[in-house]
Formats: sequence, C-alpha cells, structure tokens
Amino acid sequence: MIVQLKNNVKKEQTNQLILWLQAMGVETHITEGSLHTIIGLVGDTSKLDIDMIKALEIVENVQRIQEPYKNANRMFHEDDTVIEVGGAKIGGGNFLAIAGPCSVETEEQIIEVALAVKAAGAGMLRGGAFKPRTSPYSFQGLGPEGIRLLVEAKKASGLPIVTEIMDLSQLKYFDDVDVIQIGARNMQNFELLKEMGHTGKPILLKRGLSSTLEELLMSAEYIMAGGNEQVILCERGIRTFETYTRNTLDVSAIPVLKGRTHLPIILDPSHGTGVAKYVKPMSMAAAAAGADGLIIEVHNNPARALCDGPQSLTPDAFRKLMQDVDRIVEVVRGTKA
Ligand code: PEP
Ligand code: MN
Repeated sequence: MIVQLKNNVKKEQTNQLILWLQAMGVETHITEGSLHTIIGLVGDTSKLDIDMIKALEIVENVQRIQEPYKNANRMFHEDDTVIEVGGAKIGGGNFLAIAGPCSVETEEQIIEVALAVKAAGAGMLRGGAFKPRTSPYSFQGLGPEGIRLLVEAKKASGLPIVTEIMDLSQLKYFDDVDVIQIGARNMQNFELLKEMGHTGKPILLKRGLSSTLEELLMSAEYIMAGGNEQVILCERGIRTFETYTRNTLDVSAIPVLKGRTHLPIILDPSHGTGVAKYVKPMSMAAAAAGADGLIIEVHNNPARALCDGPQSLTPDAFRKLMQDVDRIVEVVRGTKA
C-alpha cells in the first residue's frame, strides 16, 4: 500500500503518521520525491482502514499495490534511480554505454579493447571471466585470472568493470569488480540473488531467456529486499520461434519497465540479435525507446574471438555506432525537456 502526502506537509505531522502506521504493525519506507512524499507500507496491511487514512488532512491519496514487487516499484519511488560507478552514472537521464569482449582472453586483448571503447565514449568495460556456455567443451573463461586481467585493463583505461558471477564460490574474486553481472541463465538463482543483496555493489541483472518482465522485476526484488537498491535491469532478447536472429530483442521491455520501475534499464543488442550487423540498428532503437544505456560486445579481432565472435563489433564499428547513438540520445533528451 502507498500513502501519498499533500505538498508542504510539516515534518512533525509526517512523523506522527509514520509512528501511528508502525504501531499498526507495518514497516514504512519513506520516499521524498520531487512532487510528493510517499510512505510505502510493507507487511500485513489488511487491518488498515484505507478510508480513514484517506480522510486525514495531510493525505492526498492511498493506493493498494497489486504488483508483488515493492522496492522495485515506481509507485514507491517516483524518481528514477541513478547509479554511480567510478565516475560513470546511469539512470535519470544519464546514458551509459558498456562495451568489451564476450570473454577476457589475454592481457593485450582486454587492454587494447578497453582503450578503444573508452576513446569511442564507453563509460564501463565488460568482459567475461566465468562464462556460462551451452557446451561443456567450449571455452569456459579464464576464471580468476580473467578478473585479474580485467583489473589491469581498468588501471590502464580508468574504466570501471563489470563481469558475471555464476556461483557464490566465485564471490571472493570480485573485490575489485565494480558491477557484478547476473546472467540470463541465473536470473532465477534465488540463493545467488539473495547474496547479491549483501554485496554493496551495483548488480547488472539480465532477463532470463524465457522470463516475463514481472519475473525480472521479482528477481530485482530479491536483491533489493536484502538491502541493495543498486540494480540495473538488462533486456538481452528472449526465446521465440524466430531463427534469423539468436534471440528476439524485446525493445518494448524498455517503455513497459520504465512505467513500472525506477531502476535503470539497458539493452544488450549483441546477445539480443547474435549478428554484428544488427547491433547498430538495435542500439539506435534502444536509445530511441528511452533506454538508460547499452551493453555491447566489442573484440579487437572478432574472427578469432574465443566466444561470440559473429555478434562482436570491431572497435571501429563501435565508434561509429556511438556517434549515431549519441545523436539519438540527444533527440530523446530534447523530447523530454
Ligand atoms: C554475457 O553477457 O556475457 C552473457 C553470457 O549474456 P547472457 O547472460 O545475456 O546470455
Ligand atoms: Mn557473449
């Protein structure tokens, strides 16, 4: 349930109401938005008399929340969440491009790509160290050594880094990682999600291959319920009957999620399409639809990549993509103003 207060309510009046609500046995979450103060009520609200609360002089409106997610819900938190990572910002009008190879292969590779994507305007470096591969015989990533090389690339480029965790036993290697990625295959690994709630680091949460947007939001809720409000959602394509693309990129997820949550939303056109030449048009579509950013696979030599070469851009193609995406981001900003 949410209680929306009128404008210019005195602090003592708000506090009195909060104490009274807490005495009724519910937990209160206060959000001071740009327009209104909102009191979110979590717990058993069945004993509360909505009409009585509505009738209070300081109350503008009271609404029951139908959705099962509370922390992620925009009703509780009307302003966009802005997440700041090592100088990079995402959300609330800040567009962030994350780029880098599917997997970290060598020191030269990751540093070369890091410097190139930074020069093209990326604000964060990606690179897999622990790789979820369909075949147990495919390259599984360099593991802890991959993270060490990513940290070297961070030192060389100044870019914060994001990499995927597949199992809790790997968390000990993530001290110098800025953002932890939960991949599509682990979106509903609830024990992993609960632990992400205690890391104190931003989490990049990718949509599962056949998950609904509500399921994605419920997974974000697992992380947030543990006390970590810094979740970035990522649409990366879902399974459909289509075979000309690797997945079907659901661009409509952006406006749908924007209405329901205050969390930043990015798009992954690399895994979403699986084909390098479709990455730029879908990146432009994402920016036009109001995404807060992109995550794009870039390799210095896609033909020789150990993982996902066909969908990887060269640094030069990425630079050109950024020029066009920037123009669209400007247009979208102008439309909002
Ligand atoms: C990735 O980003 O490297 C990855 C494996 O993506 P996904 O979990 O979306 O398949
Ligand atoms: Mn990949």
